[in-house]
Amino acid sequence: MSRLAGKTALVTGSSRGIGRATAERLARDGALVAVHYNADADAAGKVVAGIAEAGGKAFAVKAELGVPGDVDTLFEALEAGLKEHGASGLDILVNNAGVMGGVAPEEVTPEIFDRLVAVNAKAPFFIVQRVLGILQDGGRIINISSGLTRFANPQEVAYAMTKGAVEQLTLHFAKHLSGRGITVNSVAPGITNNGTPVFDIPEVVEQMAALSAFNRVGETRDVADVVAFLASDDARWITGGFLDASGGTLLG
Ligand code: NDP
Repeated sequence: MSRLAGKTALVTGSSRGIGRATAERLARDGALVAVHYNADADAAGKVVAGIAEAGGKAFAVKAELGVPGDVDTLFEALEAGLKEHGASGLDILVNNAGVMGGVAPEEVTPEIFDRLVAVNAKAPFFIVQRVLGILQDGGRIINISSGLTRFANPQEVAYAMTKGAVEQLTLHFAKHLSGRGITVNSVAPGITNNGTPVFDIPEVVEQMAALSAFNRVGETRDVADVVAFLASDDARWITGGFLDASGGTLLG
């Protein structure tokens, strides 16, 4: 498949999990993909190597998000990588990198709260602001939200608040960028097996699976395929949208 041939994409947080599956899928569709990561250079390198082995094109970009200067670091590395590969502009931005909370409402400290906001909400805002200078007309911005904006889980109240912000980012930038033919949409995964150890505990997986209408936890490709649809020309008429990629978790 080469429906993204000639396109370029940045997927934040694509050294593992949903971001990794998304980078791999966009590369399979023909895009040159910037595989962004924070700490795990080995993991990012393996994603890039895997894409190359499969006949695709990718390069790694390191930047810690949620700290001063994060967006400058990210774009310096991104633009250098694009240049090295003979490209200059970007066609697809996937704001995927994020951190979970997992803290009871009574235990959320200002430091925990600020970190969640910095990585999950502030960084995506300033990445979008910055990308406008290199994003091609007709481009795509896809922001990864969470089913937790619609499904209450008090342990994740602070995290869910940041994902509510992501959805507002989507709504307002969709209007702002419509004149350039750029679409902006949110994708909301439910519980998705990102390879962390909790997904190796059968009793826990069974409980998590029961939240989905299909009685299983999501696989990263379940979400990546939805992102790939939004990135494609097939989704040109969707903007400002919220796509539930939770396997029916939000049906109650
Ligand atoms: P993972 O925890 O598996 O991977 C997170 C990725 O983000 C890694 O590539 C990591 O890089 C990067 N990252 C994390 N923090 C930072 C930071 N401060 N600066 C730069 N990069 C960072 O994530 P998931 O695949 O589970 O989740 C991806 C997205 O989907 C997130 O936005 C999450 O909120 C959302 N989501 C996930 C769900 C799930 O069940 N998995 C459910 C609903 C939403 P490195 O490895 O180098 O640290």
